[in-house]
Amino acid sequence: MNTYTWNVDKNVDIQKSYPQIRQAAELLQRNEVVAFPTETVYGLGANATSSEAVRKIYEAKGRPSDNPLIVHIDDKRQLGDLVAEIPASAYLLMDEFWPGPLTIIFAKKPGVFSDIVTAGLDTVAIRVPDHPVARAILHETNLPIAAPSANRSGRPSPTTAHHVATDLTGRIAGIVDGGPTGVGVESTVIDCTVTPPMILRPGGVTAEQIREVIGDVSIDPSLKEGEGAPKSPGMKYTHYAPEAPVYLVEGNVQRLQQLIDRKQAEGMKVGVMSTREAASDLKADVVVTCGSREDLSTVARDLYEALRHFNETDVDIILSETFSKEGIGSAIMNRLEKAAGYNYL
Ligand code: AMP
Ligand code: MG
Repeated sequence: MNTYTWNVDKNVDIQKSYPQIRQAAELLQRNEVVAFPTETVYGLGANATSSEAVRKIYEAKGRPSDNPLIVHIDDKRQLGDLVAEIPASAYLLMDEFWPGPLTIIFAKKPGVFSDIVTAGLDTVAIRVPDHPVARAILHETNLPIAAPSANRSGRPSPTTAHHVATDLTGRIAGIVDGGPTGVGVESTVIDCTVTPPMILRPGGVTAEQIREVIGDVSIDPSLKEGEGAPKSPGMKYTHYAPEAPVYLVEGNVQRLQQLIDRKQAEGMKVGVMSTREAASDLKADVVVTCGSREDLSTVARDLYEALRHFNETDVDIILSETFSKEGIGSAIMNRLEKAAGYNYL
């Protein structure tokens, strides 16, 4: 399959990119899959009402079929046609965080979505993305669009069109290149069908921010203790992993350097993922800088690019700094622990 690429500058008037947006939207309307930027990561979109279209997402990604997809819409006013009920907590969250990196689980309206979007559940995950290119495509298709991250299953999520092309060229109909994404980690997933609402996946909107809006909120216990079956089917799979094994290192720079030295003495080529503050003090075969400790949102933004970068090197092992699980640190550590298979050194 030929993979078409459109360049769309999100910083110019979106009207100027109308022909490209229109072509991408037409492919989606014809039940093809097209990757496009959102404010979190690149999504791989398909018509959520068509099983023919959605099946192509699972095939292109190699995604397990029991892992449901997030449906993206242009405007919350479409919800009435898609869900069975809108709980009061969901109204408050939508008012505060949509458009934005928060996915809400609703009871679904029967007969609207392809059953494979929801992996046979009676709930559906929905969000309105905050990205002009994503919004323009959704507006033009006038369809609910299922869109997981546009990577091969198990690999780090794509934050540039180049990442998408590396994983999916020849497997999908098109890629809309709108430059690098901003937030860098996926949306927070919250289930509003239960009381109090439960966070199933940490992401771009923090638990602290959610608490300020709806008060009581619970967190899927499997996230806190890293054990038990997660309530979000996708959370049980290995994810976000580069080719070399990743190990997480707690403690100061000296401890990290000792571990690098030890692995090198064992004959390994060692890669290190380090914040800007520590990078100049570390000696390893490859040092990749990932954001700054002064502002953890920069670590989130750079995380997947950094993890993917190691695939272009010949390191045997990757050691990474760790972060507090407060605020956006919770999403960063969730992704890092998965990339590392929960292995600490
Ligand atoms: P991705 O699209 O790859 O960012 O992943 C979407 C996440 O949302 C996965 O962890 C899914 O398991 C989760 N998800 C999607 N739909 C539902 C649902 N109806 N109930 C619970 N989790 C869901
Ligand atoms: Mg994903």
